[in-house]
Amino acid sequence: ASTWSNVPQGPPDAILGITEAYKADSFSEKINLGVGAYRDDKGKPYVLPSVRTAEEKVISSQMDKEYAGITGVPAFTKAAAVLAYGADSAVIKEDRVAITQSISGTGALRIGGAFLERFYPHGKSIYIPTPSWANHKAVFGDSGLEVKQYKYYNKDTIGLDFDGMVADLKAAPNKSIILLHACAHNPTGIDPTPEQWQQISQVVKEKEHYPFFDMAYQGFASGDTDRDAYPVRLFIEQGHGLILSQSFAKNMGLYGERVGAFSIACESTEEKKRLDSQIKILVRPLYSNPPVHGARIASTILNDPALNKQWLGEVKGMADRIIEMRALLKKNLEELGSKQNWDHITNQIGMFAYTGLKAEQMDKLAKEHSVYATKDGRISVAGITSGNVKRLAESIFKITG
Ligand code: PMP
Repeated sequence: ASTWSNVPQGPPDAILGITEAYKADSFSEKINLGVGAYRDDKGKPYVLPSVRTAEEKVISSQMDKEYAGITGVPAFTKAAAVLAYGADSAVIKEDRVAITQSISGTGALRIGGAFLERFYPHGKSIYIPTPSWANHKAVFGDSGLEVKQYKYYNKDTIGLDFDGMVADLKAAPNKSIILLHACAHNPTGIDPTPEQWQQISQVVKEKEHYPFFDMAYQGFASGDTDRDAYPVRLFIEQGHGLILSQSFAKNMGLYGERVGAFSIACESTEEKKRLDSQIKILVRPLYSNPPVHGARIASTILNDPALNKQWLGEVKGMADRIIEMRALLKKNLEELGSKQNWDHITNQIGMFAYTGLKAEQMDKLAKEHSVYATKDGRISVAGITSGNVKRLAESIFKITG
């Protein structure tokens, strides 16, 4: 028998299955709302003009292709930290952020998982929201942490189960690790309000929990990178130590370039130095050092004042288009005479809308209307355009009444 004859067939990735079904559909007006990537109003992938310009600068500067250091391109990580924590942040001013470039957001989460598994001095469980991005469980589980959950989504209100969340955070053992989506919660699109964040910060403090922020959509939610970083900055102000994962996949459209950062807000520069040394020891046997091209693009955008300004405008443009499509979808449903309340479509924020549609309804959407999205009722609002929103609303109306 072959060495691998005992390897079982694994289940296909849920999202890839949707893409395949979408591709196999010959209907010319089919709609793909499965993918978590931005599309322009023609439904096409979008390369930000600021990214094109930055890339041309990088190429024309004829840099060499030598290895970066283990922690990546320093000009990039320095600017990424400022983008996240804010230039006025105490952790930036006092030089106490340990940071490394990462293989986008996923890679940052994985470094975080490995770091916690190796060094966290308390219970090695991480609490993630119910639901959460499906990969969280896999990333932290594969890192050797025990993955537990706290309440987040209330299916009756299609909103946040704030009381349930707080109760679960209180019920968790002291000093637990808590994974928080900084903004544009995936898959629900439901974020706590600033007041709720303040209460969450309080509870996390009382319980001496350790916060781990996943910020995969900074700027992409509200259109404003400072506003979207609110919870991270609030927690810093409130004196929490924390871990942060950053991705530039969405806000710079650098998906396949894999640009991200992993950081730990430390208590002192001395602590930062110790943690930095261990992050290097951890990363070295994983992949030695990260790719340079995407980080050079991001660094050029973050460090060139004119390009940075242009980029912020383009991020806002993407966020605004998504917000507009939410409003249009809701308006179309109401104009069709839908008796249901669709306020959650516009109350939610970021790439995804959690429609509240059930698995059977999602099946019908695909089979009868050629509208493809995940069974949990999540639709990628980025896949909606002014050209397909009417047919999408009609399809949803037909299956919900
Ligand atoms: N966290 C969340 C919540 C996400 O939605 C994503 C992207 N789907 C990521 C992390 C990581 O994405 P990437 O590795 O492409 O940066």
